[in-house]
Amino acid sequence: MLAGKLTGEIKNIRIWQKGDERAPHKPLLLLYTLGRVSRDEPRLAPYSEAREDLRKLLIEFGPYRRAYYPSYPFVKLCNDGDFWEIKGKQILNTTKDWTDRELIDNETAGGFAEGAYTLLRNDRKLLNDLARFILDNYFPGTLHQDILAQVGLELESDARLIRRPDFRDRVLRAYEYRCAVCGFNVRLGDTLVAVEAAHIKWHCYGGPDHEVNGIALCSLHHRLFDRGAFTLDSSYVLRVAENAHGTCGFKEWLMRYHDHPIRRPQSPAYYPSGNYINWHLREVFRGPSRYAARG
Ligand SMILES: [Zn+2]
Repeated sequence: MLAGKLTGEIKNIRIWQKGDERAPHKPLLLLYTLGRVSRDEPRLAPYSEAREDLRKLLIEFGPYRRAYYPSYPFVKLCNDGDFWEIKGKQILNTTKDWTDRELIDNETAGGFAEGAYTLLRNDRKLLNDLARFILDNYFPGTLHQDILAQVGLELESDARLIRRPDFRDRVLRAYEYRCAVCGFNVRLGDTLVAVEAAHIKWHCYGGPDHEVNGIALCSLHHRLFDRGAFTLDSSYVLRVAENAHGTCGFKEWLMRYHDHPIRRPQSPAYYPSGNYINWHLREVFRGPSRYAARG
């Protein structure tokens, strides 16, 4: 297999799509498997071993759902090219859906096919570039380090997190240069530090670089927002997820803002758009929301 073919196939994987719902199954499985290659682990991973890791990745970095299906990408990636392979007692029809039980009973194992595996093992830059491509295309920058840590991959850092300076300037101005949640606005000399412009609907999912899709947040609240620890309702009231908890910091940095409106931008023209807030609620928020007296 040639590097160009592998890159092309991975960049063109088909993602299940309904509107702008997130389906990060295949991207997360690929990152997980790239992590295994980088650690020289056996080429094929038994599904019985990978299942829990994959489920955990889907829970942490996918949208909140009633059920999670790690079996789905494990089989379906076969239909995206020659780079993926599954093996088992029997050959499975890769266009069908298989349950966890069926995959385990079949002793199914999956991973990169020989050609792709050899390429990736011998070309660390190729492995890094593919991991970087998947991260950039399916997840916002604030999540990259957390995902990499979870899949055990190390990439050289780069400065791309500070791209789109114009968006940042406009959003920070709209919110008068402070965190819309806690008001943080510390400066070093003339420079505002650790206050960022967050996309409400992620840029990699088509969220535009526009004030109505932006919110100024300190680094901590930006991270918590992108991880889905809190969201906003249509009246810009902050909602903390039932899933979020902690003994130190939780009260001070999250619960004290729960059920309270965020600081609004200086003009109604910059108020977050309901469409984008809704997307965040559906696709990022690790709901349901904690009890709120305001309902
Ligand atoms: Zn803050």
